[in-house]
Amino acid sequence: MNAPLIDPFARAITYLRVSVTDRCDFRCTYCMAEHMTFLPKADLLTLEELDRLCSAFVRMGVRKLRITGGEPLVRKGIMTFFRAMARHLASGALDELTLTTNGSQLARFAADLAACGVRRVNVSLDTLDPAKFAAITRWGRLPQVLEGIAAAQAAGLRVKINAVALKGFNEDEQFRLTEWCAEQGHDLTWIEVMPMGDMGEADRLDQYWPLSDLRRRYAARHTLIDLTERTGGPARYVRLVETGQKIGFITPLTHNFCESCNRVRVTCTGELFMCLGQEDAADLRAPLRASADDAGLEAAIRAAIARKPKGHDFDYSRRTVAGQVSRHMSHTGG
Ligand code: SAM
Ligand code: SF4
Repeated sequence: MNAPLIDPFARAITYLRVSVTDRCDFRCTYCMAEHMTFLPKADLLTLEELDRLCSAFVRMGVRKLRITGGEPLVRKGIMTFFRAMARHLASGALDELTLTTNGSQLARFAADLAACGVRRVNVSLDTLDPAKFAAITRWGRLPQVLEGIAAAQAAGLRVKINAVALKGFNEDEQFRLTEWCAEQGHDLTWIEVMPMGDMGEADRLDQYWPLSDLRRRYAARHTLIDLTERTGGPARYVRLVETGQKIGFITPLTHNFCESCNRVRVTCTGELFMCLGQEDAADLRAPLRASADDAGLEAAIRAAIARKPKGHDFDYSRRTVAGQVSRHMSHTGG
C-alpha cells in the first residue's frame, strides 16, 4: 500500500503541488479575467479532504508539498490545514511544506506559517512600481505585498521572489528587481509567460519575453556561472559572480526538464494532473467522497501515475500557441 509512486518512465513522484482554492484577491492580467466565475463551494475539496489527499500522497513517498491556488491564503480556515500538515514534517515523512502566494495576506499569517514548520515561501512580484503593480494585478496594492514580505522575513521565512517576464512591462525593471532582491536577501526567479487560460492568442504572444533574452542582458553586465542544481522541474539557475546572487529561470515551454519530472498537481476540485501541459487528469474527489477509507483514493492515484506522460506539448515556435491548454493557472496552481 505504501510503495513509492514510480511512473512508467521510472521517475519517482516526490513533489506534490496542491491548489486549495480557485479564488484570489488579485486579478493579474496574465492569469485571470477581471470578472471571473468561481466554482461553487461544494465543488472544492474540504479542508478534511485536502488533508486525506495530501496525507495519502505523503504515505506513497511525496517529500515536498507546495500549497498554491488561486491565492492559498484567502482560503477560509487554511491555517487549520497547514497545522494538520505540520504533523508530517514532525514525523519526518515530509521534508518540506511550502506555498506560493501573492503576499497580500502574509502580514497576517507569516508567524503562523513559520510555527507550522514552513521555512520558505515563494512570493509573486512582477514590478516594484506601485502604479504598474496596480495595473498588472488590477486589484492588488504594492505596499501591502511589501509589508507581507517584510513580515515573512521577520518570522524567519526565506523569501523567493517569482516574477513573470512580460515584454514591454517589466523589461526595464530587470536590474532594479535584481538589485532589490540582492539588498533584501531574496532569491529571484523569472518565469516565462505561459499560454494558459482564455486570453487572446495575440495578447499572449505580445507579452512573450523569452528568458534567453533576460539571460543575455544579465550576461552583458555580469559573469554568469551555470549552476548544475536541478529541482526536477523547469527551473535553471545561474550565479551572478559579481553579486553572488542566484537567479532562476523557469521556461515551462521547453521540453528539456520532462525527463527528470518528479511532480504532479492537484486542483482545488481534486483533479490530479500528471503533466502541466497535458489535458489528461484523474478525478480524486470521487474516491475521496465515496468512502471514508483511503483504499479507493490510493488506487486512483496509482492508476493515474501509471499513465503519467513522458512530456508536454507547449510550443511557441511557429508563432502560434500550439498545445495550448484551456485551464487557468489559478485552477491548476502555478
Ligand atoms: N496566487 C499565488 C501567486 O500569485 O503566487 C499562487 C497562484 S499563481 C497562479 C502561481 C504563479 O503562477 C505565480 O507566480 C504567477 O505569477 C504565475 N502565473 C500565473 N499565470 C501565469 C501565466 N500565464 N504564465 C506564467 N506564469 C503565470
Ligand atoms: Fe491571483 Fe496569483 Fe493569479 Fe495573480 S497570479 S490572479 S495573485 S492566482
